[in-house]
Amino acid sequence: SIRFSSRVAQVKPSATIAMSMKAAELRAQGRDILSLSMGEPDFDTPEHVREAAIRAIREGQTRYTAVDGTPALKQAVIAKLARDNGLEYQASEILVSCGAKQSIYNLLQALLDEGDEVLIPAPYWVSYPDMVRLAGAAPVILNTTDKTDYRITPAQLASAITEQTRLLIFNSPSNPTGRAYSRKQLSELAEVLLEHPRLMICSDDIYEHIWWADSPFTSLGQVAPALKDRLVVINGVSKAYAMTGWRIGYAAGPAELIREMRKIQGQSTSNPCSIAQAAATAALNGDQACVSEMCQEFKRRHDWLVPSLDRLPGVRCTPGQGSFYAFADFQEAIETLGLDDDLALAEMLLEKAGVATVPGTAFGAPGHLRLSFACDLDTLKDAVRRIGSALQG
Ligand code: PLP
Repeated sequence: SIRFSSRVAQVKPSATIAMSMKAAELRAQGRDILSLSMGEPDFDTPEHVREAAIRAIREGQTRYTAVDGTPALKQAVIAKLARDNGLEYQASEILVSCGAKQSIYNLLQALLDEGDEVLIPAPYWVSYPDMVRLAGAAPVILNTTDKTDYRITPAQLASAITEQTRLLIFNSPSNPTGRAYSRKQLSELAEVLLEHPRLMICSDDIYEHIWWADSPFTSLGQVAPALKDRLVVINGVSKAYAMTGWRIGYAAGPAELIREMRKIQGQSTSNPCSIAQAAATAALNGDQACVSEMCQEFKRRHDWLVPSLDRLPGVRCTPGQGSFYAFADFQEAIETLGLDDDLALAEMLLEKAGVATVPGTAFGAPGHLRLSFACDLDTLKDAVRRIGSALQG
């Protein structure tokens, strides 16, 4: 048999993708499956963005571009960061990648060594710990519960930092919880970060535009400009513009670090797709009305789904500030039904109710389920009705 690397042995396949595949399998067998496990907007990419891609093909933008992105897209990213986040960057401080995911991957590969520790607040996006392990470092999980509304506290952050800590991966609004940090909460965390000048910070802002809190979205770099020389902002067009398949994301950070990240990308994928870059340029520079229209629809679904889940027996679900996920505590329901855990519950809901969700264990939060509302309201209503009957036994 084939001998695999020790690196790959440490990595788990993505649980969200596994659930989607299982749902697709059942659907292929003719079962009526409602998919609440998706991690992507259900909307189509806006028309003007698609047109820009078609134009790029017609104009022959079909060759390699600079590894770190076309000058036009880098300028669009710089303009976006200034416009939305009040952050000033130069072209040498921007790297465009095949999705935000690749930017994060490059960052971890450029930064981490064996023995390094990376702080990851839980519930976390499934890929962070595995990408850290692939870079040879150790994820250190900062657990949170609904007692702090799934947010880490400054004291918790302070006590987790050791000599080995190299990086904090911060994600607000969060996948899977939908929770975001207020300006005040961010500045309290920044105070701790400022006391530890060796610590690098990755701020994954990918859900910033799917946002409905009273106060505007604030990026960590905005509240603490003094962090700029060790902050990497991660963002992309996947979620805001319904462009998951185009694979364009980006990183903004210190030029010397961006240069190393670009080196890694240059030896893996090289530039992201030239046509997708043209589309992303149009998305960032174009009319932003499409973004708020999609966001309003997500909010409408959130406002229906969260209280509806909370009313189910043995389920607790409280509101988030953004993203398209509801994160619900099913622990009591799991116990009442005599099930082992959230994995067994997700399995049961898929088999019996025909509803695909993602077990909280995948995000480092056992006892929970993540339900995506990247599907229409009628599907959500049907799903909640079915979950309700399955929980009655
Ligand atoms: N960060 C978070 C928190 C995500 O949920 C995702 C996608 O699911 C990404 C980053 C990656 O986005 P992409 O690679 O499509 O830009």
